[in-house]
Amino acid sequence: AAKSSGRDRVHLFSPALREAARWRLEVATRLRGDAIDQLVVHYQPVVRLDTGEVDGVEALVRWQHPERGLLAPDTFLSVAEETGQIIPITRWLLRETTRKAAEWADRGMDLRMSVNVSARHFSAETLVRDVRVALQHSGLPADQLVLELTETSVAEDPTRAEDQLAVLRRLGVRVAIDDFGTGWSSLAQLFSLPIGTLKIDRSLLAAAERVAAGDTGAVLAAIVGLTRTLGIRSVAEGIETPEHLRMVRAAGCDLAQGWLLGHPMPADRVPTWLEEVRRAGGDVCAMAAAGQ
Ligand code: C2E
Ligand code: MG
Ligand code: MG
Ligand code: MG
Repeated sequence: AAKSSGRDRVHLFSPALREAARWRLEVATRLRGDAIDQLVVHYQPVVRLDTGEVDGVEALVRWQHPERGLLAPDTFLSVAEETGQIIPITRWLLRETTRKAAEWADRGMDLRMSVNVSARHFSAETLVRDVRVALQHSGLPADQLVLELTETSVAEDPTRAEDQLAVLRRLGVRVAIDDFGTGWSSLAQLFSLPIGTLKIDRSLLAAAERVAAGDTGAVLAAIVGLTRTLGIRSVAEGIETPEHLRMVRAAGCDLAQGWLLGHPMPADRVPTWLEEVRRAGGDVCAMAAAGQ
């Protein structure tokens, strides 16, 4: 009997599935324990396309796992989202990143700080308090903080989203819609919300490149045109090549982010990087074009 049930298990759970289940359990257990102390934040530059100046950074969490090394967020955040651990994690992130931004501002480096907020936290009562506490503790001006929400987190419950956004707006923080172009939210609904920034997902950039090689990318230009009309700032994500840069500039995007302009980097690398940019003339786009 043991043998046959063993065979059944093999049949039902492939090694890959079993490994995935084991990993999920490990993540859930560790995140309840000391893993939160092993989280690190990397910062990726966000660059103005008109001047090439650094506008700010986006905080991207990683897990310095004791045995597996530095882990990307997609390996553990979905589990954290399911277990609810994403809320204390983001609370910690808000504290950490606003403190960093305030520290850098004190040293003459004014950077707008973008933090990703998951759907689960966005729909929780505590978000507003967590943001307020982070701002109070750090002393960072509210308008230097950008909360990045995904299309889906605002589309789930539009009425509630509108209320929550109104409260955040009163606090003075900015709100960006992340990964635009990957969801199926109604444009009318999305643009009726008080959002300040639209981050165009890199999949749209790739699509624009395919459809209109050499052209400015009609879809991209149309989206940017829409944001212009509505007074929303646009950020193009995933700029990897000079051609991407050319395309998003031609489309009229306000800001851009991507490996060509700057990789996510540890906090202590940020001031050095800014200094390098300053010495090169302050124009990250020109540096990127020159292959520096
Ligand atoms: P996102 O917010 O859209 O972040 C952009 C992702 O694109 C980051 O991946 C970044 O490293 C990556 N990226 C930047 N430039 C390029 C490029 O030129 N090419 C390519 N191929 N990728 C680029 P990362 O750090 O792995 O984060 C993945 C996602 O995980 C984020 O997507 C965000 O949704 C989520 N995430 C990251 N940190 C946090 C966090 O602190 N809280 C929450 N709730 N989610 C987070
Ligand atoms: Mg983001
Ligand atoms: Mg994004
Ligand atoms: Mg994305």
